[in-house]
Amino acid sequence: MAQPVSIAQGSYGMISERTRLRMIERLRQQGIRDERVLAAMYEVPRHLFIDQALATRAYDDVSLPIGQGQTISQPLTVARMTEKLLEGRSSPGKILEIGTGCGYQTAVLLKTGAQVYSVERLSGILDKARLNLRNAKLVHARLVHGDGHQGLPDVAPFDGIIMTAAARQVPPALLPQLATGGRLVLPIGDQEQHLWLYEKTATAIQETRLEAVRFVPLLPGKQ
Ligand code: SAH
Repeated sequence: MAQPVSIAQGSYGMISERTRLRMIERLRQQGIRDERVLAAMYEVPRHLFIDQALATRAYDDVSLPIGQGQTISQPLTVARMTEKLLEGRSSPGKILEIGTGCGYQTAVLLKTGAQVYSVERLSGILDKARLNLRNAKLVHARLVHGDGHQGLPDVAPFDGIIMTAAARQVPPALLPQLATGGRLVLPIGDQEQHLWLYEKTATAIQETRLEAVRFVPLLPGKQ
């Protein structure tokens, strides 16, 4: 079993530690129960993934701009998606993330102990993510510059796939890259979007619609 969140001895100073604890308490009140997710989000210094000018808002329950028209998801969305992705599995296993962005979701997945592959279509954003992850001393994700529509067939199957940009429909390449027992969590929609969960069993794929969300669109090609 995962350990409950404990107060680590201040590597990031008391203020940000208190602020992070407040964020975790808020996530609990908002219904997040998986201690692995809460511990990971407590440990990842979210302010390191955000431009300094916005860093004071890093732990607020908001999404924030990260450059090139992209955004970092609000903490509750990161927590919900990670919780859904890992639900029912004692070890997080091998995860594919589509839409690296600033690398925060990547960092949270790494902290849960997952083996993470993350694909981003914008090279400038990916460079920033690499730097952010290095600053947070999390260097063991495989970051790939590419179009996430294709998934990563050479590395598949994955125990989980998480997409953090919204598509009109599930990219057809993804479900075949899911292992049996694997889970895919992603936002689907255009003006109106919802999170969807797909669970692959030995005989079927179960789909469940979750809450309404707001993500930037999944775009084709890489730049
Ligand atoms: N998980 C991110 C959220 C990033 S926003 C974070 O924690 O910051 C969504 C990201 O998806 C953007 O960086 C965008 O460039 C990227 N994206 C959009 N379409 C994509 C595609 N087809 N393949 C890979 N990345 C894509």
